[in-house]
Amino acid sequence: MRTLVADHPLIAHKLTALRDQRTDSPTFRRLVDELVTLLAYEATRDVRTTEVDVVTPVAHARGTRLARPRPLVVPVLRAGLGMLEGMCRLLPTAEVGFLGLVRDHETLVATTYASRLPDSLAGRQVYVLDPMLATGGTLSAAIDLLVERNADQVTAICLLAAPEGLAFMESHFAESKVPLSIVTAAVDEKLNDVGYIVPGLGDAGDRLYGTVGSG
Ligand code: URA
Repeated sequence: MRTLVADHPLIAHKLTALRDQRTDSPTFRRLVDELVTLLAYEATRDVRTTEVDVVTPVAHARGTRLARPRPLVVPVLRAGLGMLEGMCRLLPTAEVGFLGLVRDHETLVATTYASRLPDSLAGRQVYVLDPMLATGGTLSAAIDLLVERNADQVTAICLLAAPEGLAFMESHFAESKVPLSIVTAAVDEKLNDVGYIVPGLGDAGDRLYGTVGSG
């Protein structure tokens, strides 16, 4: 597993504003959107391309186009949905699948309540959007579903990661043949005893959408 902590002053600036408990939901949503676009720029560094010819007003040129099959973007509902628009701005031709996973607040175990994915992901590069890599339970369960469908390569984009979650992902996918990358804006200090990232930014779903429901 490859972990990339995107080190950029604009990313650090936006993340700091996200962490601030005084940031309201509309501002939080806008900042997530902007931050994801910056993270997506790093995360798509190895997106597959093909060479093409293009005619400019002046001459012929060799150019680059995204290869087929198109990349698949999969937000993990509910909080991952807040990252979708920022990702699609950078990859407008990507296909979008959906996974709904909810984490039990007591056991911290993730269960799947919705899945909308192509039957086969053979040959596909998949970008999973999940803002908080905490215990790793939700993200690993989501990626297991992608690996079961033969995804070729998986990149998870997370706003924040906890060291415990990264360690869990590393061991969970140690034997996996599918190349896995985690791209995040920061690795925080630790998890607290109820599975929240410290210092973190609180419950990402609640801060994006208010406190209706959970996950
Ligand atoms: N999910 C969140 O939204 N926040 C955390 O800190 C951990 C998991």
